[in-house]
Amino acid sequence: MPDPQEQLFEDTAPIISVRNVRHSYKEGDGVKEVLHGINLDFYPGEIVIIMGPSGSGKSTLLKLIGAQLTIQEGDITIDGENLQGATPKKLMCLRRNLGFIFQSHHLLDSISVLQNVQLPLAFAEDATAESSRIEALEVLKTVGIADQSAKRPSQLSGGQRQRVAIARALIRKPGIVLADEPTASLDQKSGREIVEIIKKMAKELGVTVVLVTHDNRILDIADRIVSLVDGKLVSF
Ligand code: ADP
Ligand code: MG
Repeated sequence: MPDPQEQLFEDTAPIISVRNVRHSYKEGDGVKEVLHGINLDFYPGEIVIIMGPSGSGKSTLLKLIGAQLTIQEGDITIDGENLQGATPKKLMCLRRNLGFIFQSHHLLDSISVLQNVQLPLAFAEDATAESSRIEALEVLKTVGIADQSAKRPSQLSGGQRQRVAIARALIRKPGIVLADEPTASLDQKSGREIVEIIKKMAKELGVTVVLVTHDNRILDIADRIVSLVDGKLVSF
């Protein structure tokens, strides 16, 4: 049977390519392998959900793709650039094209919502205080909470905080967004709103989304679902 993924994207080069990736953690005196040879391609503009039970290695895989964890074995290529052997400067460029959304928002409560969203622009050469303020307001508008921009994150609901996290992930206009259990701490209605925003942004901005979850209620937003079982991927 032909591979459906190949049929769909046969003329397009993958934006992320994962080849024979293995990963182990130290455990006591020994090591425990949690990823046993992962092969997976992601194509521009698609939303891929990686599902699997807790402990199956989803976050590890996402961190490897996001260059937050050193690759031990195998290769990951982003935009044609192999992460292994990339210079620190190249890695910095690659990371700049990635937006991260986590389960817990990692927002700073000592500054406003607007300042949290501006933060990734703090080191951008081409951004001024005023231009980054305008851009931050713009993305906050995209996720529907521009009116909350003066508040502190702790003054918002969980769903609103996750919107702030999405805005912060989007501010540098990344080509790729990596989301780790973005609905895990939300009730059903807020979770739904969050994935709808992620879907809208992927489709309107052409962003490639890799979303890791064990939340069955959000699977319908995916163009493709893969499952991580015992450290190996299964497509269906
Ligand atoms: P998931 O995100 O699917 O829940 P993880 O990738 O977080 O899975 O973890 C996979 C396995 O690796 C789990 O058994 C977990 O305990 C282990 N693990 C994850 N991170 C570490 C770490 N930093 N040190 C040791 N073991 C870890
Ligand atoms: Mg996880």
